[in-house]
Amino acid sequence: MPKEYDYDLVVIGGGPAGSSAAFAAVKKDIKVALLEKENSIAETVRTSGVTWIQNIKEFGIPDDCFNPIKNFSFCSPNNEVTISDTVPRAAVLDVRKTYRWLANESRKLGVDIFVKMNIKNVIKNEKGDIVGVSGTGPNGKTTFHSKVVIDATGFPSTICKAMGFVHQWKRFGAGAEYEMKVEHVDSDTWWLMVGQQYSPAGYAWIFPLGDNIVRIGVGVGKPESDVDPTQRLDEIIKKKLGPIKKLGKLKKIEFHYGLIPNDGLSRKTVFNNLILVGDSAGQANPLVLEGIRYAIKFGRVAGKVAADAIKSGNTNKKSLYPYEANWRKEIESKINSAGKVQDRWLGLTDEGWDKELDIIKELKSEEFIDFIKADFGLSNMIKLATHHPKLVVRQLFNIVKGKK
Ligand SMILES: Cc1cc2nc3c(=O)[nH]c(=O)nc-3n(C[C@H](O)[C@H](O)[C@H](O)COP(=O)(O)OP(=O)(O)OC[C@H]3O[C@@H](n4cnc5c(N)ncnc54)[C@H](O)[C@@H]3O)c2cc1C
Repeated sequence: MPKEYDYDLVVIGGGPAGSSAAFAAVKKDIKVALLEKENSIAETVRTSGVTWIQNIKEFGIPDDCFNPIKNFSFCSPNNEVTISDTVPRAAVLDVRKTYRWLANESRKLGVDIFVKMNIKNVIKNEKGDIVGVSGTGPNGKTTFHSKVVIDATGFPSTICKAMGFVHQWKRFGAGAEYEMKVEHVDSDTWWLMVGQQYSPAGYAWIFPLGDNIVRIGVGVGKPESDVDPTQRLDEIIKKKLGPIKKLGKLKKIEFHYGLIPNDGLSRKTVFNNLILVGDSAGQANPLVLEGIRYAIKFGRVAGKVAADAIKSGNTNKKSLYPYEANWRKEIESKINSAGKVQDRWLGLTDEGWDKELDIIKELKSEEFIDFIKADFGLSNMIKLATHHPKLVVRQLFNIVKGKK
């Protein structure tokens, strides 16, 4: 029997963006459904889960969901840098635990979560605006009518594609990683490994999770390189390249693979009755291709703005625009600057990377975090200028401006 439901808001995708949008919306006393196609929230992990302590605290993520990091090591073919701190400023998330916590917070407030609900189609009114979605659930064809739909389906962007508003991402990162038990690891130090042998357009990483468990991965920029990240990952592990050697015996626990958009902020993210958030909106920092904190932060903004619009009785694109205005104001210029740094990095030879690490070496931990987070605001640049010799500041400014 076909199933039909009526909600004020339907959110598609139970990742960090979708759960956060549902959480913020239900707080405003509207009827919210969160639809996830997998058997459970975060059944498949598609991310390395690095984020920042400041954001973790802001979101209220519990302490048992992450491993804190206070040393940041980089290596290139002939150079190595470690920036150390006394306090942790970064973290590696237990992705399943965190994503399930996010979804559960929304469930506790009254969101109806439907798993095994694979949404494929949109329902339109006579004007062509979206008024619901349909797909296949445990009981067959299922339809959800709603005043607003939030597309939080991540990279595939299923809903906005079905509306004909967007095409597949042209530029994206492909990443493969193993979660592994290792013999020796410093659990508060991460490694980023750069240069041709690791990735011709990207980087490799070792992110520790505590208990002698690490995520070792390779990310490759597409279409810049046709290297298969899984194959490259297997090769660097087999050869025990660079810091992998220090880990001793390795035992695979789980394999993760994922795609992340890298087309900049090229999409419109509000339409009549529809919002795009997280990876479906392309909200990722291109420097290290991280998007979890944006997904949570702007997910919450999207949920709040959608609920306000629903309560006002007007859900057209103008009523939903405060969401887009919010995220553009917060990250647009930073992401554009980060895109220039990324372009410079994509063009670096091994020798160029060796030199780049010498510049990065000059940064204090806090400055390094601002940099890697793409927090290139004026006040941070002024702080840099007052704390460093002219040459270093000029080099750093040139990096941010994307000059070779
Ligand atoms: C290899 C790799 C490593 C990464 N490492 C980091 C990192 O270290 N730190 C960081 O911050 N970011 C990282 N990212 C990026 C980060 O994972 C994303 O930015 C983030 O997951 C975006 O969240 P989201 O909720 O928008 O999408 P997703 O996390 O992709 O969630 C989308 C959800 O929607 C569901 N879904 C999709 N289609 C449908 C459908 N048709 N019907 C129902 N449900 C559907 C999916 O099953 C999924 O649960 C990485 C990405 C990759 C690929």
